[in-house]
Amino acid sequence: MALKALDIYKLLPKKNCKECGFPTCLTFAMKLASGKADPDTCPYLDEATKHLLKGATRPPIRRVKIGVGERSFAIGEEIVLFRHDKSFVHPPGILFQVPDLQTAEEIRRVASRVKDEVFPRVGELLRVNGIAIRNDSGSPETFGKAVRVVEETAEFPEVLIAGSPASMEAALAECGNYRPLIHAATAENHGAMCALAKRSGAPLVVKARGIDALQELAATCEAAGVQDLVLDPAPETTCEFLQTATMIRRMALARTAPELGYPVYLDATVPGREEATLSLGILKYASVIVTTPREPASLLPALTLRQNIYTDPQKPIQMTPGIYRVNNPAPGDPLLLTVNFSLTYFTLLGYLESSRIPCFLLLVDTEGFSVLTAVASGKLNENLIRDSLQRFGVEAETGHRILVLPGYAAPLSGRVEEATGWKVLVGPRDAAEVPEFLEQSWKKAAPGGSPGPAPGP
Ligand code: SF4
Repeated sequence: MALKALDIYKLLPKKNCKECGFPTCLTFAMKLASGKADPDTCPYLDEATKHLLKGATRPPIRRVKIGVGERSFAIGEEIVLFRHDKSFVHPPGILFQVPDLQTAEEIRRVASRVKDEVFPRVGELLRVNGIAIRNDSGSPETFGKAVRVVEETAEFPEVLIAGSPASMEAALAECGNYRPLIHAATAENHGAMCALAKRSGAPLVVKARGIDALQELAATCEAAGVQDLVLDPAPETTCEFLQTATMIRRMALARTAPELGYPVYLDATVPGREEATLSLGILKYASVIVTTPREPASLLPALTLRQNIYTDPQKPIQMTPGIYRVNNPAPGDPLLLTVNFSLTYFTLLGYLESSRIPCFLLLVDTEGFSVLTAVASGKLNENLIRDSLQRFGVEAETGHRILVLPGYAAPLSGRVEEATGWKVLVGPRDAAEVPEFLEQSWKKAAPGGSPGPAPGP
């Protein structure tokens, strides 16, 4: 259970000695409650109280960073079980797995894909996060060589998968300061793996089947001084992963088991159920997912799912308001108005680009709401449209005063004409019908496709 500041204050020595760096014990209690102070900084707390405070004041799921630099990613810090309660925080890292028995050329090919392959979608770039290198050979030398090939290709996050501490040491020697994720400390090797994690400053996966064994091993590694842990529940089936990952998330959020307050790892390489496991892990509650290199047709749905699940529903992805040019328009070409909800923009853009009709798109700032929602909430109104036309100097660009409103904004058409003095055409509701609408209605409204200025107000 999380403690409130006053509950914490009751546990403090109340000396107000300032040795913790805060002016009073109450201030220290408030900082502890908000997770901005460490119980260790008060020298007068006994070990039992420190343990209690650490469990009650640290984030329910620890933040762990994998890799360094531009491609590094953070996981953990989740605070809800369900996305409708509040948004999920850090999207899971998805990494392609390569066995160290593959040739250097094969490994390099996968690494190059991870380095360069990007899928633009609704204003964001979707990509795989890194590479997991697996020590199938059992040889430290072969493992080290495979890691070196990846390192030579690009700098991105890696997972090093080996059961042997000797192999892991050889691989870590190739990684320098790149903070790869070490997989894994087990009941058999945790002493050596903890020592390697501490020496290299890299996060460590703790692998054990079943909640009790995982909790015990995580506590052991924590006591050995490794702070950045990731939990691998080693499930035998996808169903078992779902059950275990859900229990881990529940117990971590309830703070009933602080040793489980770490992100979760998922191996999604089991042949025959890779897609299902990958999708399930994105939904329920994996933070690092290792999969076999997938073709784009199979990969893109997973990346899209991840993007959708980890988009804050209260903060839609937005485009910058302004005037956008599609298919190299010239003065006289159609002007369409839409909202700055990026999904609306990209859907409409796709149809317009494939139609090859040159036109202008005016995106107005509805704070990312769709047309229907913006009209219903009053965010899209005649004043916003009038101000946007002026602010972005639209008439100077288009050379006319005819504006196409989206079909769902039809109720505004009269008021927009009155407020702006522009002629308003009401377009279709469905973006797919816009090209046909422009072919027919625009020509009627603006003969010759070059309407010239409409009459002023
Ligand atoms: S060091 Fe401990 S006793 Fe001193 S002010 Fe801070 S919390 Fe209070």
